[in-house]
Amino acid sequence: MNKALLIVDLQNDFCEGGSLEVKNSSNIIPVINNLIDKFRQGASPVIATKDWHPFDHRSFASVSGGKIGELGSLNGIPQIWWPDHCVQGTEGAELHPDLKPVDEIIHKGTDPEVDSYSGFFSASGQPTGLETLLKKQEIGTLYVVGLATDYCVKFTVLDALSLGYKVFVIEDGCQGVNLNPRDSELALDDMKKGGAVILSSSELDI
Ligand SMILES: [Zn+2]
Repeated sequence: MNKALLIVDLQNDFCEGGSLEVKNSSNIIPVINNLIDKFRQGASPVIATKDWHPFDHRSFASVSGGKIGELGSLNGIPQIWWPDHCVQGTEGAELHPDLKPVDEIIHKGTDPEVDSYSGFFSASGQPTGLETLLKKQEIGTLYVVGLATDYCVKFTVLDALSLGYKVFVIEDGCQGVNLNPRDSELALDDMKKGGAVILSSSELDI
């Protein structure tokens, strides 16, 4: 089985200056670029996910009338209300310009009625196409980096583990939102409990 680098949501809106910025997110870009080089050298694919919302996505506080950062309910599923972000076709939805080119892009969050933290499935279980892509390329091992540790990285990793992938999470290639100060730490614990290997890029031997 092959391996792939999976870069979660490294988009302008989640980086410094974006509408939903994750603090210190630019620190992870050189780490990820090094990994892209390594995977390229090994002829292993580099796959990126993109949060890719229609302008009227109902996870947006502005659309649903909720308060930013508060927990509500969207079609019966718990939902945090976010500022408008990663709207299809906007600069905010583009991958960060300092990120080296990737081989494949998987879009998620395209249905206005349901959010999708995971790169594999929406919150209501609709597949994004990532699993199909991985199957086609006979990929069994994922090295995961990106934004944010406590949301999209976590849910992507947990779904990957439940689908039977071997998962490595490169800690210094991820950054969390930390609405609560310990959220990233707890997220990494959850991923580890689920079977992921957490390691730093310097420990990586590929
Ligand atoms: Zn989103």
